[in-house]
Amino acid sequence: MKTEIRVVTQEGPSEVYEEAAKVLQKGGLVAFPTETVYGLGGNALDSQAAQKIYKAKGRPSDNPLIIHIASVEALEDLTDAVPEKARQLAERFWPGPLTMILPKSSKVPLGTTGGLDTVAIRMPNHPVALRLIRESDVYVAAPSANTSGRPSPTMAAHVQEDLEGKIDMILDGGMVEVGIESTIVDLTSAIPTILRPGYITKEMLEHVIGPVQIDPAILDRKGAMTGKPKAPGMKYKHYAPKAQLTIVQGQKEKVIDRIYQLSQEQEKAGKKVGIIATDETVKYYKNGVVRSIGSRMEQGSIARGMYKILREFDHLDVDVIYTESFEGDPMGMAIMNRLNKAAGYSILTAE
Ligand code: AMP
Ligand code: MG
Repeated sequence: MKTEIRVVTQEGPSEVYEEAAKVLQKGGLVAFPTETVYGLGGNALDSQAAQKIYKAKGRPSDNPLIIHIASVEALEDLTDAVPEKARQLAERFWPGPLTMILPKSSKVPLGTTGGLDTVAIRMPNHPVALRLIRESDVYVAAPSANTSGRPSPTMAAHVQEDLEGKIDMILDGGMVEVGIESTIVDLTSAIPTILRPGYITKEMLEHVIGPVQIDPAILDRKGAMTGKPKAPGMKYKHYAPKAQLTIVQGQKEKVIDRIYQLSQEQEKAGKKVGIIATDETVKYYKNGVVRSIGSRMEQGSIARGMYKILREFDHLDVDVIYTESFEGDPMGMAIMNRLNKAAGYSILTAE
């Protein structure tokens, strides 16, 4: 299959949008930018389109898809009952990086929800995504537009790398803003539960709807792999670069020393080493291939840089990667949730 790649802008010519809309209406697949990561879109109410998404990504079919909408009214169509808390969250955070789990309506095929009787819904905050959804008049099921298990795509080139030849079209809208996937909150449990941490934190949600809990499988390092997370996708190894990634945590100077020591040992053993530093520390590393993920002074830049740097090290063909840790920062939970998985929970403390 030939994949059409088109550069798009918010105001850009309507032909590209019309073409992409037709692809969706005919049951084809279009990758498009959202503010979190690039999504691989297909008609959410068409089981066959959903099947195509799973096939292109190599995604396990029990891992449900998030449905992207462009108006709050779509909630009535896709769910049987819209709880008051869902309305409040939609009012406050949509369009934005928040996905809500709600009871699904009969319109939503089980092929889209991985066999579950609940459905994940989000209104993305990206002009290209919103225009595409409106133009096509289709509810768009869209997981991240990467091969299952690989780092999520934050630019069109990443999508091309993984999916060229497997999907109909890629809309290139440049680099994304947030860089990690949406926060997922389950509103079908008595106390709303965060199933996946993201840019929108527990505190931000609690400010609007009161007490919110976090799925214990997220908190427990091993639990995310051996326990039963309620978001089926959270149990898979994910976001992984090709090289073995190890997280080194601890006090700044000690982390730098330890990474230096480890990378020397690896280089002596003939291995090519990659180091994930920050703008603040990049100058202190004297060996290995050193790249900055972003600045600790601007949390968002670290989230935005994470998947890109993991893919970059794939291209550099390094054997092992050491990274600093980002615990404790406001977005730390979301970042470390991804990084821990990418590292397969290989974490060292520098003493
Ligand atoms: P992705 O679209 O690649 O960001 O992955 C979507 C995530 O949403 C996965 O972790 C899914 O398991 C989760 N998800 C989607 N639908 C549901 C649902 N109905 N219940 C729980 N988790 C869901
Ligand atoms: Mg994904």
